[in-house]
Amino acid sequence: MTATEPERAPASSTNRGMSRRELLKTAGLASAGAGLARGANGSSGVFDYRLLLGWINDNSSRPLAGKRWPITDVDEQTVLEYSAFLKTAHECGYNGITLWGLYASHAWAVQLKDSLEPRRRHLIDRILNTADKLGIKVLYGLGVYSWGFEEIIRHDPTTARNEGRMAWGSFQPDNGVAMCYHSESARQWMRDIVDLCVKEVGTQGFGFQSGDLGRCYCTQCRRLSDTEYHSRVIDETAEYIKRQHPKQILGLSAWGVDLGGGPDSLQPLARHLDFLTDVTDQSARQGRDHRRALTAALPCALGSLGGAVIVPPQRWPRDRWFLPHAEMTATSIRSLSEDGGRAFEFFMGPLGNPQYNLMTRFVGLLLNNPTQSCERTLTQVVDRLWAPTNGGAEADLVRWLLAVERAYMTRVGDISSGEFDFEPLKGETAGEPIYLTRLPPRALAGYGSDLERLSQQLPSLISQCRRPRELQLIGRCLENVLRDVRQVRERVHGSH
Ligand SMILES: [Zn+2]
Repeated sequence: MTATEPERAPASSTNRGMSRRELLKTAGLASAGAGLARGANGSSGVFDYRLLLGWINDNSSRPLAGKRWPITDVDEQTVLEYSAFLKTAHECGYNGITLWGLYASHAWAVQLKDSLEPRRRHLIDRILNTADKLGIKVLYGLGVYSWGFEEIIRHDPTTARNEGRMAWGSFQPDNGVAMCYHSESARQWMRDIVDLCVKEVGTQGFGFQSGDLGRCYCTQCRRLSDTEYHSRVIDETAEYIKRQHPKQILGLSAWGVDLGGGPDSLQPLARHLDFLTDVTDQSARQGRDHRRALTAALPCALGSLGGAVIVPPQRWPRDRWFLPHAEMTATSIRSLSEDGGRAFEFFMGPLGNPQYNLMTRFVGLLLNNPTQSCERTLTQVVDRLWAPTNGGAEADLVRWLLAVERAYMTRVGDISSGEFDFEPLKGETAGEPIYLTRLPPRALAGYGSDLERLSQQLPSLISQCRRPRELQLIGRCLENVLRDVRQVRERVHGSH
């Protein structure tokens, strides 16, 4: 049996007919150069925006600790790891990556250029060059009016009003993090940062977020609904970029932004965007018809993170977890595709962890062929990674992976709408396995006994593969998961 070469969309397409909507959009924005590589055939369902997403170190092969999350250190090893990571991304058909923390995480320096420290810049430039050579666009993960402004607000108090902020539906009286939409100086800071990213960093687009840390709730801003507020700060920034830098690709991860108002209310938010990522699948929850109406009416592509956003544990040894989620993610991608969605961002993690190696490849292949079944796509990945020597072993491996997934997913309840963490992101050291403590005692016991049984099946599967090393690593991961299960049962649930 030969390894299956992933089917990949061509890097660019010039022969595709344009839909009326795209034509209108292009005419309206004069942005024909914008957008990512498209599939060769507009009707094949290939996603236009096939993106990876994460903080710069989320895919690190080393556990990182000793600082508050997110840790954004980069060094020579980071550059080497990105070479391998981006090569895999290319091979699996991704065409972009949204990176957070290239420069500045919580705070831009007041002298903006000081944020681009020369030694770091040398390293980041090399990562961006690698991506460029592979045809993978790098989008700069950018906080819009919030995330990154702690220093600027301290230095220039005209940017913010200290009248509290509204974050995730609740009022927070403190506000050192969100600038005010009604501040002229805030607008100028935002524009200066964007110009810096385009001209100095060489970014090819932006992944915006405006809602995660909350938004200004001063007497003027609170007259605006959340949707109106976010629409204004996003559109103010997006319109500026499309005017000044028309080739930049613009997307919004709508963390903390209510999309419930329907297509009309979202026009001002989306009109200068290329894609809008519904991070918690709010629109799907309102019904498939609702989401279909939304994708038809939006001036940009609608996207998703797959519902459940599986965040890699930044501070754990890389062999401490293994939780494949192919079936869950395939269901999400297929339904999004059927509803007309054309953007997807996969939250990246370390390829040195077999779950992420498997899922990164799986998602990339599906985004290029969303009508292909979960099993067929998994088979492609299994062949490529482990080279089973016979059809029986190939099918057994696929069934085995699905059984490992179901052992957890059928017991955890609904995780399809938001962030899923293995460990808490708080603190500076490796945290507790909260993905296990969230299971009720009986469910955890059942998960443990299923994993024991599945682990015992692994040696026979390994013996039928030409490339067994990663399967052996999966065995080690499962041993470590089982150790965590036992410890949680003893410590938290008092079982022996
Ligand atoms: Zn305000």
